[in-house]
Amino acid sequence: MNENVHYGDRTVNMQVKSLSDNEIQSLLRKYGVRPSKKLGQSFLKSRAVARDIVAAADVTKDDTVLEIGGGLGILTEEIAHRAGHVHVIELEAGLARALRDLLREHENVTIVEGDALVVALPETTKVVSNLPYSISSEITFRLLREHTFNQAVLMYQKEFALRLRADPGTQDYSRLTINIGYQAEVDSLMEVPATMFFPMPEVDSVVVRMKRRTQGPRAKRDDVFHWMVTGLYSYPNKTLRKALRIWFRNIGVEKSLAEEIVRSCLGHLKGDDRLRNISIEDLVVLADSILGSIEEGNIPDPGGLRSERVS
Ligand code: SAM
Repeated sequence: MNENVHYGDRTVNMQVKSLSDNEIQSLLRKYGVRPSKKLGQSFLKSRAVARDIVAAADVTKDDTVLEIGGGLGILTEEIAHRAGHVHVIELEAGLARALRDLLREHENVTIVEGDALVVALPETTKVVSNLPYSISSEITFRLLREHTFNQAVLMYQKEFALRLRADPGTQDYSRLTINIGYQAEVDSLMEVPATMFFPMPEVDSVVVRMKRRTQGPRAKRDDVFHWMVTGLYSYPNKTLRKALRIWFRNIGVEKSLAEEIVRSCLGHLKGDDRLRNISIEDLVVLADSILGSIEEGNIPDPGGLRSERVS
């Protein structure tokens, strides 16, 4: 199952070539893995796509790379050829065993068997992954919160990727868009059809590039921003006034404060603006006004709540 692949003037003998459905099935059988939808176990078949993903991340020998969910290693091996080192986290014991076998000739690969939501995340310069869709949201927020990568190239289910990067006023503009967009710049790079995976998932995938945002508006307190967005955007089609009143009621704050907050944002926001249409810049103004009320003791302080999670 080896294949010669050319990298500039280097020719490399690959352990894991493009895989057919039958080959994936027999590897899964060999390592005692029954693919689970719950664990997002759809394996990429095409080495060309794996190569495009790694090329998009511009991985060089100066990079260390974190991969979440190694599977049968098609992406891992491609990263290993270009990076200084790869740390790959894989939850399923059988797949961790497969990775150890299939990548045994690569001294620059470290396999961590465990849950990427729980294990310590190795510090790396880049993150490159075909993410298990069941943890897309949680792992993305964890990476942004706890990891210091300068660039991530990540594959998501298409529907999720569309919500990661959406413009105000569109149906996909949601609290996920805002909570991510506040912290990172997201660009869609390519679509990968469902037929490129085995077992074939129900939906297509999209590869995105994510870079930590270094410029742009920033609320005085990030936790207040995320707490507010998470509280308000359960109701993205409501007006700002209405959503504030509902959120205030939910957190035990006097509803009439909504009008005062709206007034304090005049010039940026109006009470009858629909949440779906409000830009991140204007939400920053709103979060700073909410902070003003927290400091006056009119709204409880969210403290260190992890408030940017999305469902
Ligand atoms: N990278 C491989 C590929 O492209 O073919 C596999 C990608 S598959 C979409 C996702 C992988 O993540 C599976 O191997 C699955 O077992 C693993 N996985 C699922 N949940 C995980 C978790 N919480 N932590 C680490 N790996 C996980």
